[in-house]
Amino acid sequence: MKEIVTRGYKVKIYPTEEQTNKINQTFGCVRLIWNYSLMERLEIYNIFKDYPELYKSHKYKLQRDWKIYFPFLSEVDSQALNTTQQELKSSFNNFFKKTHNLPIYKSKKNQRNSYTTHTTNNNIRIEGEHIKIPKIGYIKLKKKRRALPCDSVIKAATISITATGKYFISLRIEYEQEIPILNENFTRSIGLDFSLNSFYVDSMGKKANYPMYLHKSEKKLKKLQKKLSKKVKNSNSYNNLRQQIAKHHEKVRNQRNDFHHKQSRYLVKNHDIITIETLDLKAMSQNKYFSKKVIDIGYHQFASYLSYKCHDAGKLFHKVNKYYASSKICSVCGSKKKTLPLSMRVYTCECGNVIDRDINAAINICVEGIKIFFNKEDRTTSLA
Ligand SMILES: [Zn+2]
Repeated sequence: MKEIVTRGYKVKIYPTEEQTNKINQTFGCVRLIWNYSLMERLEIYNIFKDYPELYKSHKYKLQRDWKIYFPFLSEVDSQALNTTQQELKSSFNNFFKKTHNLPIYKSKKNQRNSYTTHTTNNNIRIEGEHIKIPKIGYIKLKKKRRALPCDSVIKAATISITATGKYFISLRIEYEQEIPILNENFTRSIGLDFSLNSFYVDSMGKKANYPMYLHKSEKKLKKLQKKLSKKVKNSNSYNNLRQQIAKHHEKVRNQRNDFHHKQSRYLVKNHDIITIETLDLKAMSQNKYFSKKVIDIGYHQFASYLSYKCHDAGKLFHKVNKYYASSKICSVCGSKKKTLPLSMRVYTCECGNVIDRDINAAINICVEGIKIFFNKEDRTTSLA
């Protein structure tokens, strides 16, 4: 079975000094158009917030309107400005749908910056060691890089700078791919239950090999951040330390990313059905040992890697329903406890089952995955 897939492709770039200036100018213009448009929309919103029809009748300013006030906007990629205007619009729409807060201003002090541009008439393309970008020209790409899949089409590009001053380009690519069909007689299933200490425990009772170096790096990062909070803001030593933290942060992010790729690759290679829990952040925050943010960042990235790697290999990936009480159900007899405090690390059931709490949950999650698989109707939805 062939189908079109959309994927991300990120690679380091080495712009010349002139290109760097142009990129930074674009960051500035994108920020300017965001902040001015936001200011205007907030004013309109404050006047008409009780009259939605009147609010709607005030159309967004077009790019050419802004260019009258700020002629230098014409010097940068108009697609990048366009993307920003679209993003602001959808931010307001999300606010009206009550799924998000009001959008906020972008600060010049933010060291991480980016802008996104979309392809029109093949104007973004890789030629040899370079990538062509509108208004910037041919930027040198990192030599050692993955090849793009055959016949992939570049739909959009995001140029970004990290807090440590490195430039990257992230491409959104589309290509056609052969998806293998899963053999029903050969279905190795596994369930994962997430925890902070070992990242996850699987239904075979095995813990993810969360690397020691990553533990160490995360610990060091915390220490540095604590040190920073004691420094005088904007002093020399404050700024030095901040730079140091940014570097270390980047290192941790890369290490975590590598680990997620490696671990998900291993799981997908060795299993046919992979089922994970849906993290309930509210419940987790009750646990004082849980750093909500740490597990949150890791979980979402890891889940997305599992999802697309399973998809590409023709395997199945599910997230169990958020309300499925994986930890309260006995994995042997199926009876369900009314409550199970987080401090209780061992699950004990009247049927005689005594088992580690996380392993019990992982087994339940695994069984749910198999149930979903045999209910064929769910198969297509689970791939979405
Ligand atoms: Zn039982």
